[in-house]
Amino acid sequence: MMFSVRVDKHVEFIFVCKDLISRTSAFFRSISCHNSWRPGLTIPVDLPDVEAESFRVYTHWVNTGKLVIEPCRCERFHEFHEQKSFIEAFILGDILDDQHYRQHVIGVIVASLASRTEFLPGDLISRIWAATQSGSPLRNFALRWMLVKHPDSFTLRVENHALPKEFLAEALSFMFERSAPETDE
Ligand SMILES: [Zn+2]
Repeated sequence: MMFSVRVDKHVEFIFVCKDLISRTSAFFRSISCHNSWRPGLTIPVDLPDVEAESFRVYTHWVNTGKLVIEPCRCERFHEFHEQKSFIEAFILGDILDDQHYRQHVIGVIVASLASRTEFLPGDLISRIWAATQSGSPLRNFALRWMLVKHPDSFTLRVENHALPKEFLAEALSFMFERSAPETDE
């Protein structure tokens, strides 16, 4: 099955096995249900908020079961490039409604942050909070990782007003709930 997927303001043509991608992604399952495929037909798919790289990572995963991200080729090398790619991968897993992929990616994010003591950069925090809903496993993990594992960095960022508003609001209510005294049974 051939999809032409519009990602990140340009079109990528992607060959994927219909059965394979329908099995993994509820998003693609519903598209292939509503389009009867015949040879030569390309099904257009619109994903304008998705980066082309994330989509390539996803199709590679569908075809091989391996999560391979591209190395940093950004103008200025940045420390958190790998984490940024994984976070984008998770967000795409959300959009495509692929539970197995999301689970795998969150495991990779947990592992990749395990040894780090620096805080997530503000743009990554903003991206997570803009692209996920309250209760999202990525949000929950990021929140706990920052507040429970690295409380000093959190306090410093708060003092420097260096945190996105939407994150700060959720962080403060998380802290408040944790510090509330336990009620007796
Ligand atoms: Zn980079």
